[in-house]
Amino acid sequence: MAGKPLHIGVLALQGAFREHRQRLESLGALVREVRLPADLVGLDGLVLPGGESTTMARLLTEYALWQPIRKFHAGGGAVWGTCAGAILLAREVRGAPPQFGGQQASLGLLDAAVQRNAFGRQINSFAAPLPVSGLEEPFPAVFIRAPAFSDVGSQATVLATWEGQAVMLRQGAVLATAFHPELSPDARIHALFLMMVAETKTEMA
Ligand code: GLN
Repeated sequence: MAGKPLHIGVLALQGAFREHRQRLESLGALVREVRLPADLVGLDGLVLPGGESTTMARLLTEYALWQPIRKFHAGGGAVWGTCAGAILLAREVRGAPPQFGGQQASLGLLDAAVQRNAFGRQINSFAAPLPVSGLEEPFPAVFIRAPAFSDVGSQATVLATWEGQAVMLRQGAVLATAFHPELSPDARIHALFLMMVAETKTEMA
């Protein structure tokens, strides 16, 4: 990538963070694993990976990361959530396990509700050629117990739908994918995020 490398953090509390790291590095980004609030300092963008969102939410509380991530975004940092990470971004989480009273905390950086496991349980994980707005060819999307978005606010744009459900959204410097681009041999969505990060950085400069 031309110009100065971008500094991207990957939340590394749980889940598929190594795959994001490798893909971002292959595109020229400098990647730091984020576990503590201090790890966010100096980053241009942050990726919240897939995994298990109830566990990740619990770890965000344990490591006191909720407010620092919101502040990172408010200060102009771009944020991308994949699957469980996208669940963390939403305004409202539906389908949380009953032992948590069906409630699950979220960052609220994306004006949309999210339904967990919208395409069924683990056995219903699948790969599909997904048409994505802005990409010429469909993206080979891997869905693993994937969520879907609904009640999308006017500030957010739906970039992809599958079976009539929204699975990729962008709202300003926030990107959300219900699927796992880091598990596909295709770097286009990581490249798209790095472009968003670069744009946001220029706007803030
Ligand atoms: N179903 C998981 C959840 O609700 C997300 C799965 C994933 O990240 N692949 O947390």
